[in-house]
Amino acid sequence: MHFKIDTDLCVGHGRCYTLASQWFDCDDVGYAEVKDVAIGDDERAHAEDVAAACPEGAISLLQG
Ligand code: SF4
Repeated sequence: MHFKIDTDLCVGHGRCYTLASQWFDCDDVGYAEVKDVAIGDDERAHAEDVAAACPEGAISLLQG
């Protein structure tokens, strides 16, 4: 599993990197970036919650 951010939708609320700094970082102006960190199978539920917490629907959780 990995995250993908639609940069056309991200407006930089910062919820993702506040909720899950282990998986997300921000650039110099607050837009989200995905860290190159694996998501364990036991972390799936939390990863889904974090993706769902984006008000813009900019975060997808993809297999592989
Ligand atoms: S929560 Fe969504 S809109 Fe906000 S910084 Fe993260 S990806 Fe961007």
